[in-house]
Amino acid sequence: MSALPKKMTRPVESSAQKSASKLAKLGLHTDMDLVLHLPMRYEDETQILSMRDAALRGGQVVQVEGMVSDCDVQYKPRRQLVVTIADDDTQVVLRFLHFYGSQLKQLAIGARVRARGELKHGFFGPEIVHPAYKIVNEGAPLSTELTPVYPAGEGLSQPMLRKLIADAMTRIEWRDTLSPPLLAALDLLAFEPAVRLLHNPPKEVDESALADRSHPAWERMKFDELLAQQLSLKRAQIARRAKGAAALPVIGTLSDNFLKALPFALTHAQQKVLAEIRGDLLASFPMQRLLQGDVGSGKTVVAALAAAQAIDSGFQAVLMAPTEILADQHFRKIAAWMEPLGVKVAWLTGSLKKKEKTETQVMIESGAAQLVIGTHALIQDAVQFAQLGLVIVDEQHRFGVGQRLTLRNKGGDGKQGTLVPHQLMMSATPIPRTLAMTYYADLEVSVIDELPPGRIPVLTRAVDQNRRDEVIERVHAAVREGRQVYWVCPLIEESEALQLQTATDTHAMLVEALPELQVGLVHGRLKQPEKQAVMDAFTRAEIHVLVATTVIEVGVDVPNASLMVIEHAERFGLSQLHQLRGRVGRGSAASVCLLLYQSPLGWTAKQRLMTMRATTDGFEIARKDLEIRGPGEFLGARQSGQAMLRFADLETDQWLVDKARQLAQTLLREDPLAVEGHLQRWLGAREDFLKV
Ligand code: ADP
Ligand code: MG
Repeated sequence: MSALPKKMTRPVESSAQKSASKLAKLGLHTDMDLVLHLPMRYEDETQILSMRDAALRGGQVVQVEGMVSDCDVQYKPRRQLVVTIADDDTQVVLRFLHFYGSQLKQLAIGARVRARGELKHGFFGPEIVHPAYKIVNEGAPLSTELTPVYPAGEGLSQPMLRKLIADAMTRIEWRDTLSPPLLAALDLLAFEPAVRLLHNPPKEVDESALADRSHPAWERMKFDELLAQQLSLKRAQIARRAKGAAALPVIGTLSDNFLKALPFALTHAQQKVLAEIRGDLLASFPMQRLLQGDVGSGKTVVAALAAAQAIDSGFQAVLMAPTEILADQHFRKIAAWMEPLGVKVAWLTGSLKKKEKTETQVMIESGAAQLVIGTHALIQDAVQFAQLGLVIVDEQHRFGVGQRLTLRNKGGDGKQGTLVPHQLMMSATPIPRTLAMTYYADLEVSVIDELPPGRIPVLTRAVDQNRRDEVIERVHAAVREGRQVYWVCPLIEESEALQLQTATDTHAMLVEALPELQVGLVHGRLKQPEKQAVMDAFTRAEIHVLVATTVIEVGVDVPNASLMVIEHAERFGLSQLHQLRGRVGRGSAASVCLLLYQSPLGWTAKQRLMTMRATTDGFEIARKDLEIRGPGEFLGARQSGQAMLRFADLETDQWLVDKARQLAQTLLREDPLAVEGHLQRWLGAREDFLKV
């Protein structure tokens, strides 16, 4: 087939259609979207510096004007156009490394040029490389406003955007969504002047306040944006509270007996979050609570106690975990606690044989199974509960929103008055408080901010991987002291096969290097019973060294393991490293984590390893992670509603968040019309992003 000329292969598009689709890529669909597409910075074309003054501002962007005194194509060191312009006493060189023939004529000797760009001191004195320039007549008027520079996509030039935005500004309805008295009370600028100023700032404006977005005009925009977000969150919360849930009072004796039988006392933090959860479970609208706690902080027992309350009320509870290893571990631990107290705990995962699965399903459906623990298998259609009162999701960020909803709907979706089960989500990936409050739709947050007593912080070292022999010696020493070791294989995102290969190779290497030790291997491709057998052997200390891929990342609990080796640590993200490290330091022995890396390290990898070395505090690590990666990536687009906050910065604008939250409450109570108008303006179709 012969190639058609490019032009003929696509249907003809009008230029308006073309720019519409380019605008859509930037999320700009309506006139209001365009008007709220605010500049990211400005250029100052409002003044001309004398060349003498300009020459004193090396490294700064300057605008100068003068007559061309020389215009020459040079060939060394490469072909370039060199134009000299001069005013009364000084000259500046304009250097063009790419140029058209027409520019030679345009910039002929005697032409008057206004040029703008970063001034540098070159071999021949002050010069500007690739200036923006135009030919002017003497005394041509200067702009009286700063020139906006907008975030642009491919094929959208600044002049096009400026024109589109200016046009949109003539068409929109400028009505303020906040009343004048309200604005006065909040000490905020009105909408229209704020927007107009940001698009076309007068030259007297405080430029640094524009640049760092502390200008009152920016404050108004940030406030509006945060208000829209808070309104949307609160509305979701109101909708949830309008749904019914079964209140779960403690009628039975399980909760009490369970607490008494526990081999340890709850920490203060555990008691505090348990009280919060218990309070929620007594309400007749569904709880939606995120239980956050660093790895090893003891979330499982809190979840089990919440389940006990549901069971004490005559309801069922379900606990879903993201991997079979983790689900199995929860099952064993919780069954060991609860079965002696007469609770029927069922287990459901994809690896069950068909007959076992059916039997379990029957138990769940009849209500005989009071607590059900399992994996994704729980959300299959065939699974039906008799009376589900509480849904618990461990490592909630591992599940999609849809999966969590499906599980919850097994108890009832709130339609036609059906009761919605209470929901408890757990996560060891700490979300900084500001993010939790502003990004997560409608969620109460409980935090376990204390580890059980007697834990010694894990000592972390970064070790160049060419010192592997020393590391193997450490492994040996740890085992001689009766301890166990994890050896985590590198993450190879591009290829699962390669990752498997590396794990097998590492296993073989360690078997050879440590002939008198038992070295086990566990990875994602093993069948469940095989995985189980290896994990069991490790739990019973029959395996000394466990070589593992990242399947052990979540939740595995073997307190006797005290050394963690992570190979190619530079390939892992911070939260993953933190999770992995959390597998050790669970007992009372001092634990060590060795991060093997391959040099040279890139900037972010170095930051990550340095953070890991410096702290074991999950919240501090999350904060660092946020700093290194930014909020959008931190949470993942799906759960962050990241399209939401374009202007406000949660670190520096916390005071605005607080104001916005208060006003949101008032408006929802008193002024539904204002709420509608504001949400429409700021979110339009985007509100769905928040309905997580
Ligand atoms: P995570 O929060 O990471 O899920 P786990 O629930 O697995 O942590 O708890 C880690 C370990 O600490 C478990 O062995 C658990 O039994 C134990 N544990 C939990 N709470 C306490 C406590 N209050 N005192 C002592 N040990 C506890
Ligand atoms: Mg856990």
